[in-house]
Amino acid sequence: MVTIVVGAGVIGTAIAYDLQKSGRQVVLLDRDSPGRGASFGNMASIAVTEFMPASRPAVWKQIPGWMLDPEGPVRVRPSYMPRLVPWFLRFIAASRPSTLRSLEAQGAALCQRSLSDTLALLRETGLQDQISQQGCLSLYTDDAEFRADRDHIEILERFGIAHEILTGEQARDLEPELSPSIGKAVRFPDNRSMRDPYKLVLALAQRFTALGGRIETGEVTGFARDSAMRQVILKDGRRLPADEVVICAGAFSRPLAQILGEPIPLETERGYHTQIMSPGISMQHSIIWPARAFMVTPTAGGIRVGGTVEMAGLKAAPDYRRAKITVARAKTALPKLQAQDCTEWMGHRPALPDTVPILSASAKTRGLYYATGHGHLGLTYAATTAHLMGALIRGETPAVDLHPYRINRF
Ligand SMILES: Cc1cc2nc3c(=O)[nH]c(=O)nc-3n(C[C@H](O)[C@H](O)[C@H](O)COP(=O)(O)OP(=O)(O)OC[C@H]3O[C@@H](n4cnc5c(N)ncnc54)[C@H](O)[C@@H]3O)c2cc1C
Repeated sequence: MVTIVVGAGVIGTAIAYDLQKSGRQVVLLDRDSPGRGASFGNMASIAVTEFMPASRPAVWKQIPGWMLDPEGPVRVRPSYMPRLVPWFLRFIAASRPSTLRSLEAQGAALCQRSLSDTLALLRETGLQDQISQQGCLSLYTDDAEFRADRDHIEILERFGIAHEILTGEQARDLEPELSPSIGKAVRFPDNRSMRDPYKLVLALAQRFTALGGRIETGEVTGFARDSAMRQVILKDGRRLPADEVVICAGAFSRPLAQILGEPIPLETERGYHTQIMSPGISMQHSIIWPARAFMVTPTAGGIRVGGTVEMAGLKAAPDYRRAKITVARAKTALPKLQAQDCTEWMGHRPALPDTVPILSASAKTRGLYYATGHGHLGLTYAATTAHLMGALIRGETPAVDLHPYRINRF
């Protein structure tokens, strides 16, 4: 029994490890070396408080204003707008109150497990030192700004997700570099961060091969199947025999699902980071500022600043002005932050219009599975996804009912 996992990002690598551990013969297949996609440069946060659907009114009501602002947190490239319409209509459909309630529950069901699943995976693989002990601070200028984010906190209260409301002084006691303009904050103790998300993928891939797993390089362009999976076909003409295939190609899963006859409304929400090697300050917590839509994370290689959503498809060249805007915003929270010695990066978040990932067996082909669409939370969900998909593929009962995450829900 050979299982081919397509895509060696954090999702595919964690699943490959889980399956190999349980005795399957697993091939982890990628056109690149492991961890070079979105999993390379994300903001490193196990963001258990961020599961709420992007389609909730508090967010989408701001979208028209953001889109008119060239420096706003969401940017749609004008040439890409027509292609985005079907996705956007589904996004709006996901904003109905009853739909929102179930999407929140589906995100919460994953986030309520994600820190403990991540810690268990890190312990098992000897990678405990990869995660910080500190949480995240969410920043607000004043009470009015805090009230505008109130629906977020109410959802956390409803699902029992840990958080603590702080004054500006209490936030500065925890992070002395924060600007005096911060009047209020919320501490999320469980939003821990990884030292380096890329190194995490490499370490998991190394644990996978140590168990006998095989890493193969090649670009998937097709599949041979009847009622069951038979082969994975590569661009260079090779055909790899497979009894089971798991599609984990991140934002690039859409064309593969299309070939497999199961189209999905997957888009890329492009995001940017700036890695500052000599920031001139040090921090213990990650910070987010909801009204200014940026995040700052202390990582092994300095301070990482990121955020922003750019809808421009998979092929357009990066627009690094987006990264520079985010750094300028970060300086409003961290006035002493220096950004001379830095690198910039762009990655593709795999985004479904209802914000909930696909964790599913195929509705059409035996031996075919999908784990994609993790959006802003692929690192957060990786260990839990591996746990759930491993159980599903082995024929066990997953710890979370996976019906809401099925491929044919659209
Ligand atoms: C700026 C930014 C910040 C983020 N911050 C966070 C955060 O703090 N916390 C969090 O949880 N998440 C965060 N995310 C989201 C997270 O990075 C993604 O959800 C996650 O990395 C997706 O993982 P993946 O394995 O599905 O995809 P990827 O890491 O993109 O991996 C997909 C792999 O598939 C391969 N592939 C694609 N097509 C083919 C093909 N045809 N044949 C062979 N191989 C193929 C690619 O080469 C790639 O290696 C952020 C993302 C961005 C861009």
